Amino acid sequence: MITMNGKRGLIMGVANERSIAWGIAAAMAEAGAELAFSYQGENLLKRVGPLAESVGSSLLVETDVTDDASMDRAFAMLKKEWGKIDFVVHAIAYSDKEELTGRITNTSRANFQNSLTISCYSFIDVARRAAEIMPDGGTLLTLTYQGSTKVTPNYNVMGVAKAALESATRYLATDLGGQGIRVNAISPGPMKTLAGAAIAGARRTFRYAEANAPMKANATLASIGGTAVYLASDAGAFTTGEVIHVDGGLHVIGMPQIENL
Ligand code: NAD
Repeated sequence: MITMNGKRGLIMGVANERSIAWGIAAAMAEAGAELAFSYQGENLLKRVGPLAESVGSSLLVETDVTDDASMDRAFAMLKKEWGKIDFVVHAIAYSDKEELTGRITNTSRANFQNSLTISCYSFIDVARRAAEIMPDGGTLLTLTYQGSTKVTPNYNVMGVAKAALESATRYLATDLGGQGIRVNAISPGPMKTLAGAAIAGARRTFRYAEANAPMKANATLASIGGTAVYLASDAGAFTTGEVIHVDGGLHVIGMPQIENL
């Protein structure tokens, strides 16, 4: 049986009930995990607070991944409250909306650095901190998108950031495997979230995926949550360094079916 009974972990990246991080948190809690949440900025607390409460969690910590002091506080809180943890879900990405449209040739140095820092480096930073409180091993999960390996409209610098994130997943899996820590990335198809909506043409991308994925549907939050539970549970004990697609099969399509052209 796949269970998270007895496991404790940090969920990073809930903004609201549509967030992928929330889909994962709900599934983790349903499977028996005990959760803590980090949220970005005071404004999000009014949304994240009630969601955390609904899964019996009162461990909330404001964390901006670009701010070392707030990262220190988050992991110090986990150490103080629990001593050790079993998993972290990193569902965090950011790029200036103005550059998630048009041509990648217009990417500014400042936004390139910011996008890569928040969307990729933060996972490496999280991994180092989490490993220090995972004496019995554990699981690190991040979220990626197929724009890492294939060109998708307007994804631009985020595609570069996700390629780096997937590579970091493999390097981290290798660094930490000997400590029993597994590192994997989940790659959902397009989802209707705040971050998703920031990419120009998001609605059309969503409809394209629905029409052309082998399953003729986009993923649900529950299906992404279920995959996260499998990966973080003992059922996923020998899966590491992997990118697992949860996209109704969209990533296998090279060209839409003739009738959809
Ligand atoms: P979301 O907007 O609900 O979540 C993004 C989260 O990132 C927010 O909670 C935001 O507060 C957090 N964040 C951004 N900058 C941060 C910072 N500096 N410090 C701390 N937190 C910060 O959107 P989502 O779609 O659930 O995004 C979660 C992950 O899933 C992202 O990595 C995204 O790239 C990935 N993803 C999304 C889709 C999609 O179509 N929505 C598809 C594949 C992968």
